[in-house]
Amino acid sequence: MIQSVFEDDTISVRPTMVEVDLDALRANVAAVRSLAGSARIMATVKANAYGHGLIRTSKELLAAGVHELGVAFLEEGIALRRAGVTAPVLVLGGIIGNQISHFLEYDLQITASSVHKLQQIDATAAAMGGRAKVHIKIDTGMGRIGVRHDNAWRLFDAAAGSAYSDVCGVFSHFASSHAADPSFTLLQLERFLGALEFFPQHGLPMPLRHIANSGAVLQHPDALLDMVRPGIMLYGVYPDAEVRKTVPLRPVLSFKTRVVYFKAVRAGFAIGYDHTWAAPADTRIVTLPVGYGDGYSRALSNRGDVLVNGRRYPIAGMISMDQCMVDIGGDAAYNGDEAVLIGRQGGEHISVEEIAERIGTIPYEVLTMINTRVPRKYTGGSADGGGFET
Ligand SMILES: *Cc1c(COP(=O)(O)O)cnc(C)c1O
Repeated sequence: MIQSVFEDDTISVRPTMVEVDLDALRANVAAVRSLAGSARIMATVKANAYGHGLIRTSKELLAAGVHELGVAFLEEGIALRRAGVTAPVLVLGGIIGNQISHFLEYDLQITASSVHKLQQIDATAAAMGGRAKVHIKIDTGMGRIGVRHDNAWRLFDAAAGSAYSDVCGVFSHFASSHAADPSFTLLQLERFLGALEFFPQHGLPMPLRHIANSGAVLQHPDALLDMVRPGIMLYGVYPDAEVRKTVPLRPVLSFKTRVVYFKAVRAGFAIGYDHTWAAPADTRIVTLPVGYGDGYSRALSNRGDVLVNGRRYPIAGMISMDQCMVDIGGDAAYNGDEAVLIGRQGGEHISVEEIAERIGTIPYEVLTMINTRVPRKYTGGSADGGGFET
C-alpha cells in the first residue's frame, strides 16, 4: 500500500517513484543459478530488499526459485510472515535475549553467535514448549558477530547437546570477497572448513554450510558450498568495480520523477540554499519534486546528473529535502516531463554505480538510501505482478 491519502493503492499521486523490473529480477536469479550449480539459494532481502520493497520483491524471488530468505532484523522477518511468506527465513543479525520468543512465534530461524545466546535460545524454547531453528555463526575474519573460528567447537558442542534447538545451518561472512585480491577470502574459507571438521570428527551430521555473498558467487566457486546468500547481484548491481563480472546482470531499479516547474533565468541568477550555484549565462531551469528526504543524496548537489527528454543535465545548486533544480541549458522541457535520477531514458543511462562513485560511497548505500516515502511500482514478473508498495 502506498503512503497516500487515496484508498485505491493502484493510484499514486506522487510523480516520484521507484520502478522495479521484476523480469530483470528473475533474470538475475537465473544468473545466480547458473553460477551456483546445485547449491540452495538464500536471497538476501534486508533493508527493504535493498530498497526494492521487501514483500513484493521477496515473493517474486521465491516464485523465481530461490529457496530461502535472509533478513537482518527480527522485524523484517515478522513483516514477511505477516504478508503470508512461508519459506524459511533466517535473521542474519545478532539477537537480544527478549526477542527470542518472537522468533519461535513466527517460525523464524535464529543466528546463534555465542554459547550464551544458544543457552538463552534453548531456555526460551523450553519455556514455550517449542523448538528453535538455529544457524550457528562463526567469525572467520569479518569481526562482526559470531564465535571465533578457532573456538567454534565450543558452540558446536553446546549445540549438539542442546535439547530444544535444531541446528539448521552453520555460516560465516566474507570481508572482501568482491576484491580483486582473493587471499583473505581463501583464508576465511579455509578457517570455515577447518572449523566444520568438528562434525565428522564427532560423528555428527554436517549442517547446511553457507558463506558466499555476491562477491563470492561471482568469483569464488569453491565457496559456494551447500547454500549461497547473494544480495546485491540479485538486484542487478555488482558489489564492487573491481569484481570479475562472470555473469551478466540486469539492473532492477529505476528512480524517476517528473518536472514540476520550468523557468528561464538570466546570467547571474542564483539557485537554492546558500546560493552555491549561479547561472553562468542565460539558461533554463527545471524543478523536480524529489530531494534528500526521499534518499536522493544531498551530496549530489552541484555534482549529480539527471536525464530529461533523453539527455543528461547537471543538478544546479543544493538539493533540498523535497526538491531540486536542474540546468537544462537552451533546451525545452514541460511540466510533467519525465526525469530519471537512476535508470535509462532514450540512449542515456545513470547507474547506481555512477552515483555511488560521484558521492564517494558504495552502490549498496545508494539503493538503501531511497526511503519508504517513495512509492515502489512493479512491472513484469509473475501472475500477481504489478501494483504499488512502499
Ligand atoms: C548482506 C549480507 C549478505 C549479502 O551480501 P551481498 O554482498 O549483497 O551479496 C549475505 N550474508 C550476510 C550475513 C549479509 O549481511
